[in-house]
Amino acid sequence: MEIVLRNLTEDYVMLVYNEISSTLDCCKCDQCRLDMMSYALNRLKPKYVVSSEGELMTKLCEFDYQFETTVMSELAKAAKIVKANPRHKLTDEQKND
Ligand SMILES: [Zn+2]
Repeated sequence: MEIVLRNLTEDYVMLVYNEISSTLDCCKCDQCRLDMMSYALNRLKPKYVVSSEGELMTKLCEFDYQFETTVMSELAKAAKIVKANPRHKLTDEQKND
């Protein structure tokens, strides 16, 4: 069994993002999605574990409801910021030149 070092907070933010992405008023392209996650992750406490791949999902369930609320609120803030300053490449219609 492969043993890995993982930041569970990162997996959890991704999980919560996938759950609530449809409610976030923000572009969902890879650039914006990852910008939102990095914003949230920089404000959340990391939780590193050494574990086998198969055990990671079980460990994710150990986060409590309070933490889920915190992650959601950071993602909502992130969506506002990314929406105001999107870093994705502009589409043809948005380009001025
Ligand atoms: Zn985008």
